[in-house]
Amino acid sequence: MNYNKVVCVGRNYAAHAKELNNPIPVEPILFMKPATTLVPLTDPIPVSAIAQPVHYELEVAVLLGKTLKNADEVDASTAIDAVGLALDLTLRELQNELKQRGEPWEKAKAFDGSCPVSAFIPIDNLDLTALKFELKINDEVRQQGDTSDMLIPIVQLIQYASRHFTLNAGDIILTGTPAGVGALNVGDKIEATLENKIHERTEVK
Ligand code: ZN
Repeated sequence: MNYNKVVCVGRNYAAHAKELNNPIPVEPILFMKPATTLVPLTDPIPVSAIAQPVHYELEVAVLLGKTLKNADEVDASTAIDAVGLALDLTLRELQNELKQRGEPWEKAKAFDGSCPVSAFIPIDNLDLTALKFELKINDEVRQQGDTSDMLIPIVQLIQYASRHFTLNAGDIILTGTPAGVGALNVGDKIEATLENKIHERTEVK
């Protein structure tokens, strides 16, 4: 399937909202990354070409297999074609400036290559409401997430997004990052794991 737009949610894990001194949102905070942000997670991440620090956010990603508009729970859940992992790469300093000025986040979140994605795997017997995932940098655990800690679970998040804009087959939903975000440095070795199903490595150059 060709990938399309990426719909992301901000602050979907309370511990991450807290670490950035952000309030817990009353409604999901949505933003988008265009298809030009998508690259394979196994490609080296070229941060040395970017003038300011690039921060990682590991997130569970779901790939949609059909069109959704004002979806109900059954539609949203049956539209999920596969699950994977994504890095929502962020220029955090620029994002903070944009937030302070009340401007959109795209310049900090939607630059080319800012959404490395793993292979997507079938849902099969996976329970999307209890998936464990982990990011290691240089063999040290930096982020450990469990989708049971999400403020808005995946299916409800898709429903919510579909009330604001049509979702299409090939769209990818990024479901928020747990605590532990930080900057990438040249030479870092990255490992991203979802349960015992996905295990991908890359490096920062
Ligand atoms: Zn994110």
